Amino acid sequence: MISRLLTNIGELFTNDPTLGDETPVGRLHDAALILDDERVLWVGRATDAPEADERYDARGAAVIPGFVDSHTHLIFSGERSDEFEARMAGERYDGGGIVRTVAATRAASDNQLRQESGARVAALRAGGVTTVEVKSGYALDVDGEARLVELAGEITDEVTFLGAHVVPPEFVTDRDAYVALVAGEMMTRCDSAKWTDVFCDVGAFDLDEARTVLEAGRANGHELRLHANQIADIGAVALAVEMDCASVDHCTHLSDADVERLSASSTVATLLPGADFSTRSPYPSGRRLVDAGVSVALATDCNPGTSYVTSMSFVIALAVREMGLSVDEAVFAATRGGASALRRDDIGHLAVGARSDLVVLNAPRAAHLAYRPGSNLIREVWRGGADVHRRFG
Ligand SMILES: [Zn+2]
Repeated sequence: MISRLLTNIGELFTNDPTLGDETPVGRLHDAALILDDERVLWVGRATDAPEADERYDARGAAVIPGFVDSHTHLIFSGERSDEFEARMAGERYDGGGIVRTVAATRAASDNQLRQESGARVAALRAGGVTTVEVKSGYALDVDGEARLVELAGEITDEVTFLGAHVVPPEFVTDRDAYVALVAGEMMTRCDSAKWTDVFCDVGAFDLDEARTVLEAGRANGHELRLHANQIADIGAVALAVEMDCASVDHCTHLSDADVERLSASSTVATLLPGADFSTRSPYPSGRRLVDAGVSVALATDCNPGTSYVTSMSFVIALAVREMGLSVDEAVFAATRGGASALRRDDIGHLAVGARSDLVVLNAPRAAHLAYRPGSNLIREVWRGGADVHRRFG
């Protein structure tokens, strides 16, 4: 296997607090890394770097771990820009538009879905994402959800079954039958997924329904995650913590008791500022969570209704500007935080032994991600030690 030396790194975020400046991002200046196709082999000061088979000059750029986007709904057909325009004109988001995407996705062929979602994956990759989670949830029938889980499996190992996204139109008069279907036959057909998720909120599924689906997911061998507290606080965070969900996602409305529960748990709070932006919702305070000792992740929530976002740089800029996170905290949340939300310790950092996934920025400091919003600062994206996207030079 070929070893590659990446040297002349202006600022390196290792996300290992035992390295560099010993902050959570483990910052090193004038740094170098040696990697092969799988792992980081060496990290330290450029002047101390041993020889490697090949040598790359970062020309003083900042290097950070590849982004881990732990929350997307990127397999869908169609778009809903009209709803976005209506919200910007004052309409409230209530989850009602999901059924439009369900209709469009049900009608799309496998190849059409591959093509549309492939373009979104390419955009995420170009923006520095090296690991992505993908949910089902836009078919809401047995064959359709099984199809979406299979298509998601062509993109990533981090596949989430979200049959409990909303109740589809054909079941609105018999919710119990739909919950039984999700927790029964649909779950069994979707057992190749790694995760089970539920949209537990006003307008979606209540606490009892969510518990039924999560328990069925666990019995089916899935790990658990939960959409919670986006529209309202109905007590979903307590359920997520009780069920040992890896992540509770949105957290737009949190009580003090929820923050305490999360800080005493191993459940990550995943913030989705693209969704708060696109629904003109208040931004939750990331500062409050970090100060309480809660593990925080940032993700795009890429979906056609409430966050048609494929840029983690944009998400970081929003988290810094609107959620009170420092740049270091936001970059950490978009990398190692996302890895924690997927219960992975092989990604999201660049210590020896980590997967060789990284981003070379077109800037000398990672702070430019928030300081220059809207600029494309992603120069190279290395995944498995190879450059998979090069925008400049
Ligand atoms: Zn979501």
